[in-house]
Amino acid sequence: MPLFGPPNIAQLEAKRDTQGLIKALGFKDAAIRMAAADALAPLKDPMAVEPLVGLLGDEHPGVRRAAVAALSARGGFRVVEPLVSALEDRDPEVRATARTAVYRRLMTDPDQDARRAATAALGRIRAGDAVETLIKATIDADEGVRVAAIKSLEAIGDVQAVVPLIIVLAHEQIRQRSTGRSSLAVERAASRALDTLCVAGAIGPLQSALGHDEADVRDIAARRLSRVGSAEVAGSLAAALHDKDPGVRRSAARGLAEIGWQPPANLTGAQYWVALREWRRCAESGSAAIPLLLAAYDGVDAPERADIVAALVRLHWKPEAANATAAHYWAAQGHWDKCIEIGEPAVEALESILRAAPRWRDRVAAAATLATLNRPVSAPFARLDLVQRALAILDGEGTGDEKRGLLEALLTDEHQLHADANESVEWCACGYPASKVGNDELREPLADLLGFEQSSSSVTTYYCPSCDTRRETVAT
Ligand SMILES: [Zn+2]
Repeated sequence: MPLFGPPNIAQLEAKRDTQGLIKALGFKDAAIRMAAADALAPLKDPMAVEPLVGLLGDEHPGVRRAAVAALSARGGFRVVEPLVSALEDRDPEVRATARTAVYRRLMTDPDQDARRAATAALGRIRAGDAVETLIKATIDADEGVRVAAIKSLEAIGDVQAVVPLIIVLAHEQIRQRSTGRSSLAVERAASRALDTLCVAGAIGPLQSALGHDEADVRDIAARRLSRVGSAEVAGSLAAALHDKDPGVRRSAARGLAEIGWQPPANLTGAQYWVALREWRRCAESGSAAIPLLLAAYDGVDAPERADIVAALVRLHWKPEAANATAAHYWAAQGHWDKCIEIGEPAVEALESILRAAPRWRDRVAAAATLATLNRPVSAPFARLDLVQRALAILDGEGTGDEKRGLLEALLTDEHQLHADANESVEWCACGYPASKVGNDELREPLADLLGFEQSSSSVTTYYCPSCDTRRETVAT
């Protein structure tokens, strides 16, 4: 046996002689270096890491491949950067071994720091063929890995990542709803990545996400699709108006509104206006809107119900039952007698008119109808009887002077005006009494004869119930 012969790798391996094997990594014969690297792989000795990293610059590709394999077997944070740099080796077999090492071995390394570093490195070198691996990492157990995977997918810029990123975001939303917890870091990263990736080239993946099982995914897809803003997306968004989830329908409608889409006069158009809760405009969609309006009726508040009825009236729909819908229908058209026939179910419709009808004469009529139904109200009129009598005089026969005389007599009888105090009436342009002016020249609204609105706890605004003019704003 020669004194300085080649090292016996088999013997060193059998003795688990790490030192001897590390020394053999520097031997002049490439076959020995390769065999030593192979033999070191299963030993996973930390001492071997630096010498093996040194071999990644070896002139012989087989040696470099063996070093990659040995570092891969070792795993952990320290081997990440060397193995990632081997992804760009000039030899295809070395690169293939490095890909397996990084994509399979490191991305499933038990050490989360190794997984994080590998995930981030793939984005940094924009490894185009790492997209699938990175998509898997978006559901890693470690939040840092998930965030790094999302950022790397953003950096690589492949639209193949769009749907998986939408699913990540949707699942965070679902988790937030069901447990009250979600990862803000993951949500932010996914949103930002989608901002970057959702360009014209992403229309295809976004359209496919509109067919996903989960409503949250479809909803995000609809929102993202509308932000792409091309006319190409209108058809998909219009189809999403028929989605079974109301949130998706709303997002689709908002998206269509943003891109200036013109709703057609059919069921799709009706779905569009319903999704936007633009009830009155549903009438533009024709009779297809009627069942949608009736279905929506029970789930909305009183002012919206009035809008639904206004649309139904325009669509020449007629109520069949004497219920609340019918009361809204008749009240919207001033058929107060029909409301009295309906009775109790009409109260809600009448109260909503009393609160919010744009014409004060409708509010007067609604208040009178409620009184007939034994539901007298104290607002927005302090003295409904006086208002009604004054309006009757104004609407009756006679000249302007005659009406003023009759109104002054009524005001005096009702102690609204004190003739002996030399008070005079100031009239609304329509001829209705508005305020009184005394000797002291101070003007005071005839509050009992006007309609009022309490805009805050200390401010009351008065309106002429005949012509709707705002008469006074009074701080009390
Ligand atoms: Zn007036």
